[in-house]
Amino acid sequence: MSEPTKIGLVGIGKIARDQHIPSIERSPSFALAAGVSRNAKVDGVENFTDLEAFLSARPDVLAVSLCTPPSSRFEMAVSAIKAGRDVMLEKPPGATLGEVEALVALAEHHQVSLFATWHSRFAPAVEPARKWLKGKTIRSVEIVWKEDVRRWHPGQDWIWEAGGFGVFDPGINALSILTALVPSVFVTGAILETPENRAMPIAAKLSMRNLDGVAVEAVFDWRQEGPQTWGIAIRTDQGELRLSRGGASMSVDGRMRKEEPEAEYDGLYARFAELVASKQVDVDLSPLKIVADAFLCGRKVDVEPFHE
Ligand code: NAP
Repeated sequence: MSEPTKIGLVGIGKIARDQHIPSIERSPSFALAAGVSRNAKVDGVENFTDLEAFLSARPDVLAVSLCTPPSSRFEMAVSAIKAGRDVMLEKPPGATLGEVEALVALAEHHQVSLFATWHSRFAPAVEPARKWLKGKTIRSVEIVWKEDVRRWHPGQDWIWEAGGFGVFDPGINALSILTALVPSVFVTGAILETPENRAMPIAAKLSMRNLDGVAVEAVFDWRQEGPQTWGIAIRTDQGELRLSRGGASMSVDGRMRKEEPEAEYDGLYARFAELVASKQVDVDLSPLKIVADAFLCGRKVDVEPFHE
């Protein structure tokens, strides 16, 4: 077996610590070689506070995983790609469609791999759901994605600023599953409930459909205390499929399927290894396109101020 590819992790915050570091440690394909973060350090590896300094000091580190917020990721990705590194992007891959398309062109020009990750697509019930839906006619889809922002995003001011996505930060996870299961969905209307003191919505309702006449309704809400809801119900001509817990569980007509263990980020790094080996680009913009269209055609409604 070949040596693992050395990888640098950039933006050492919640998701880097919760998921990326443990998954890289388990990965046979990657070895964590450096951390890049202005304020935080990763134990046991060389740490840098500046990406450019890291790129010039460590030419042996051939892959870079960017875990910073989306609005600060583009310039970092450009630097890493120009330095010939294979690049993995946390979701959402950028703050705009245009900048991610530019990154794709740059990666192709430099012949490096670029992976726009959608971790929820690697949730254990998503592939079984896709298989179950094969050959069935989807009639309608209902998404309910409700969580407590204070619990899951404490202190993350960036998430409320322009380019931070607000409630679409979790909502886009649902849309990444939707677009993996239902073809060619587009937005027909949206309501964006936005606190008076914030730039991004705290809740959103989306109406969508596709060319086959499938109606899709989605409700995202960050004000949910108590039990949290991350569910998708898909009604077909042959029964109803329900994904719950963000794609971790699946039931058909109320009967639960056997649950597989959660391994979303292990799946992402396995996929990134394939892309690195073949220098391919894997960038699917369809979830981001839905969010962008919701902002384009959505009606903004002011709601009460949000204070953490
Ligand atoms: P976070 O806890 O705020 O960490 C992001 C880190 O990026 C910060 O700790 C910061 O470290 C660095 N950073 C660099 N430029 C920054 C800037 N302009 N503003 C703020 N931080 C900056 O965020 P996170 O929850 O890990 O989320 C990061 C990305 O992962 C997001 O795209 C998010 O959607 C995605 N994600 C998050 C979760 C989750 O459960 N939290 C799950 C899946 C995906 P330094 O200050 O040390 O540079």
